[in-house]
Amino acid sequence: MKILVATEKPFAKKAVDGIRSIAEEAGHTLALLEKYTDKAQLLEAVADADALIVRSDKVTAEVIAAARNLKIVVRAGAGYDNVDLAAATARGIVVMNTPGQNSNAVAELALAMMIFMSRNRFTPGTGSELQGKTLGIHAYGNVGRLVGRKGKALGMNVVAFDPFITDVAVFAADGVEPVSSVEELYRRSDFLSLHIPATAETRGSIGYDRLMSMPKGATLVNTARKEVIDEEGLARALAEREDLKYVTDIAAAMQAELDERFGKRVFATPKKMGAETAEANVNAGLAAARQIAEFFATGCTRFQVNK
Ligand code: NAD
Repeated sequence: MKILVATEKPFAKKAVDGIRSIAEEAGHTLALLEKYTDKAQLLEAVADADALIVRSDKVTAEVIAAARNLKIVVRAGAGYDNVDLAAATARGIVVMNTPGQNSNAVAELALAMMIFMSRNRFTPGTGSELQGKTLGIHAYGNVGRLVGRKGKALGMNVVAFDPFITDVAVFAADGVEPVSSVEELYRRSDFLSLHIPATAETRGSIGYDRLMSMPKGATLVNTARKEVIDEEGLARALAEREDLKYVTDIAAAMQAELDERFGKRVFATPKKMGAETAEANVNAGLAAARQIAEFFATGCTRFQVNK
């Protein structure tokens, strides 16, 4: 089988070498399309590929239509909203992500953002500490769990909300208190770390009401997706409550306006960097290659997202 790695932003060499050896040991061939600048290059490269590994690259219906032999697409990373699932499903193509591989990198960034904001963005002045504060985790998946455990290690009181986790032992194992409603989560959280995926249900769901219910001096930390934020509502809450802060790894569409209006109370990383560590980059690439090798060997679809 021919496995194509198509990355506008390439993997590290160590990851590519690892992907190649996993592919070749399993009897497949590897093709690389890196730093492509034109969609036409991708359309040409996928034409005879049986499997495709991408990062944030857009796998549109047009790309899928051009890939006549394609059987599997693996997004090396957690979010897979860059893949047209409906188009893939219609062709019987399996789409997978590599959950968990970059979670630690994102979790460390979330904690770093909390410290950065509570220490006046590393400028002179009296800041505050995380120890003893309540950290709310919105969605207790791969990243949320690591943020929860790290928050506990820093002496925070950690509460979490995830309606899809019914086994309270998951929270108890980390010493984290599950709360029964999203309202309670926001009402109690000095720091609220967002880890919900962007779905029809969550898009635009975090806005004015949620922010206004947070305790005095609260900080909303977003390493999830910008789409989950109702930006107008966020701006309204920040305008009405001068004690609130917002820090994000995914700049808002109206980030320039937020920066201008709210100064030091808002911060966005210049470019999404949650998963940008050498370790995460390698982990996700290798996991993608292993999942493809296993899929072709045994039909395993454990990480399929379009079932
Ligand atoms: P995950 O799939 O492991 O966990 C997601 C969790 O969300 C699950 O536990 C699920 O039960 C829960 N959930 C789903 N809908 C919910 C809802 N309506 N309310 C509450 N909980 C809900 O995902 P993850 O790996 O933890 O990633 C979380 C988010 O972080 C994703 O949006 C992902 O795109 C984003 N992410 C960002 C970066 C970055 O670079 N900043 C990197 C990786 C992931």
